[in-house]
Amino acid sequence: MRKTIAVAGRPNVGKSSLFNALLGRREALTSPNPGLTRDRSYARYSPDETREYILIDTGGLILGSGEAIDEKVNLQVEVALRQADLILFVTDALEGLTPMDEMVADMLRVSTKPVILAANKADSPEKDVYAADFWGLGFGEPVAVSALHRRNIYSLEDRITGAIPTSAPRERQGGMTTLCLAGKPNVGKSTLINAITGEERSIVDETPGTTRNPARCFVEIGGRQWELVDLAGMWRKKSGKEAEEVISMLAS
Ligand code: GDP
Repeated sequence: MRKTIAVAGRPNVGKSSLFNALLGRREALTSPNPGLTRDRSYARYSPDETREYILIDTGGLILGSGEAIDEKVNLQVEVALRQADLILFVTDALEGLTPMDEMVADMLRVSTKPVILAANKADSPEKDVYAADFWGLGFGEPVAVSALHRRNIYSLEDRITGAIPTSAPRERQGGMTTLCLAGKPNVGKSTLINAITGEERSIVDETPGTTRNPARCFVEIGGRQWELVDLAGMWRKKSGKEAEEVISMLAS
């Protein structure tokens, strides 16, 4: 089986941006609005020619909120952390250490999984010093990165492959069949995926269009690996489209 890496951290630190930078393409949506990335996104991630991992964008640990959607996001994160072999804990080097980072750190410490701390938004070399703020959290030397400018992404990948070097070479991992579920919003695509996988892998909400990204998950059925893709609803709004919707449709 491929090893799994979960990208975690409080909202708006740049998890989706880092997820994209690692994948080298626009896989997840990014937005200046905290909490936009609502479903857990999965992708196959190859840092080099020989290795393949599964990368999860947890969509942010939204703590201390009573909203139902946030509770569901928290549930997604908990499931993601349970599945991960390695956690990429993302913080914001410009903002420095916040109480919510500390709360996230407390949750991650309990998990006993290896954690790499990536201090994001270090857009230029002189910003790297800010990463030192996060040493005290106890996850070893922070890696100063910039998802936006793709700075130090290779150093981060070296840390990742060093921490979980045993992910089997790509050629020995066998093929994977992709099954896409398409259909208009609210017909039950996510619920169907949940029924197949047997756990709540994608966010199900009664509001049409809750699943904005093509949400992926990987399951083993009959000894074979399957990738299930829940295509975002392709619908037209009466007046114009948000940029995120257009990107979501293009991704589909
Ligand atoms: P998430 O909520 O943690 O997934 O954060 P996003 O990836 O959606 O990013 C939140 C905001 O931070 C967006 O406005 C991004 O453009 C911005 N951002 C992400 N990475 C960087 C970076 O490396 N440098 C700077 N300056 N901004 C970034």
